[in-house]
Amino acid sequence: MITREGCLALDDSDPLAHLRDEFLLPEGVVYLDGNSLGPLSTRVADRIDRVVRSEWGEGLIRSWNAAGWIDLPRQVGDKIGRLVGAEPGTIVACDSTSVNLFKAVAAAVSAAEQRAALLTDAGNFPTDIYVMRTVAERSGLELRVAAPDALIEAITSDVGLVAVTQVDYRTGRRHDMGAVNAAARRHGVLTVWDLAHSAGAFPVDLSGTGSDYAVGCGYKYLNGGPGAPGFIYVSPSQQASFRNPITAWFGHVAPFDFDLEFRPAPGIDRARVGTSHVISLAGLDAALDIFEHVHLGEVEAKSQSLTQVFIELCEEMGLDVVTPREFVWRGSQVSLRHPDAYPIVQALISQGVIGDFRAPDIARFGFAPLYLRHADIFDAAQTLADIMERGTWRDPRFSLRQAVT
Ligand SMILES: *Cc1c(COP(=O)(O)O)cnc(C)c1O
Repeated sequence: MITREGCLALDDSDPLAHLRDEFLLPEGVVYLDGNSLGPLSTRVADRIDRVVRSEWGEGLIRSWNAAGWIDLPRQVGDKIGRLVGAEPGTIVACDSTSVNLFKAVAAAVSAAEQRAALLTDAGNFPTDIYVMRTVAERSGLELRVAAPDALIEAITSDVGLVAVTQVDYRTGRRHDMGAVNAAARRHGVLTVWDLAHSAGAFPVDLSGTGSDYAVGCGYKYLNGGPGAPGFIYVSPSQQASFRNPITAWFGHVAPFDFDLEFRPAPGIDRARVGTSHVISLAGLDAALDIFEHVHLGEVEAKSQSLTQVFIELCEEMGLDVVTPREFVWRGSQVSLRHPDAYPIVQALISQGVIGDFRAPDIARFGFAPLYLRHADIFDAAQTLADIMERGTWRDPRFSLRQAVT
């Protein structure tokens, strides 16, 4: 039986507790949507203010050199690398996750041996599947969509590459990266990982597990701010053969030579496209400094503990938890299936508990270990229990669909 006192005791012994002070969370809100948009921190607000007023306002174009804007994609990439087990010089922060996935999948197709198909799973985020279908069609290949728990068996020697999201955005189910990479290696298949719901939530070991390519998001658990750039990883062994399908000047070996011939940059810079989104990239850079002295094992342990508390409280209420019970098989989120998930989430939001809805019937709650407390989770569950008991969600205003769910 979980009690509020028990949760307070867990918070008292939480080695990450001090990090909450970094964030500017509104009063009276339990924020369980940091898996969709991480919150603002003082560092990010201050940095963006400085970039806008001083570096841009005063420095003008000189800031590309003087303020180091030109180095940001690599600098931010290396900070992300520490969180996802990637060596320095293997990640650049740029573009959106969708664009990075297109680059990675298209490059992998040109690097892969001639095979019949690309492989993904049905738990993948739709944008990933759309991107893969287009690449498949343009290369005359088949796109196979396996059931998530049949992914490994679907990795066969007529597949050129497998691209999946490590943590299912709906159910929270997590793939075993080591096992998928090992199966891929056995059949000579390249791997592309989407770490949108992994980076910053628990340690990832891209290099140790032998991943070929990866992409991820800067505005979810990394807290870079709305529309912050994503990132792309190209393993050292794939860098020399990496062919960016969008050949543009920042992927060129010498952008300021203004050479009419495209010659790719030697390392990870060849994964870049155009001019950086400097303001949001600087915000992401500042947000990553919060992770600098954080032990990722502690982040993972807290993710496990927060999700465990919520799962148990939801089970006590008799709710249908679709997220795997065993920690190794889940990310840092808990999803509930309910035919009225949409109005239930809206009713929760009206009472300061912010989660989100994913069609057709999932109420989704993200548990970001840097700023959430166990007591918050207890309170959120109490609010949920109250809404279910009273049927508050039945009020018609909670059923009005908005553009973003
Ligand atoms: C959030 C998310 C994206 C978002 O892509 P954008 O290009 O940033 O809009 C992509 N893939 C997955 C798996 C996601 O969860």
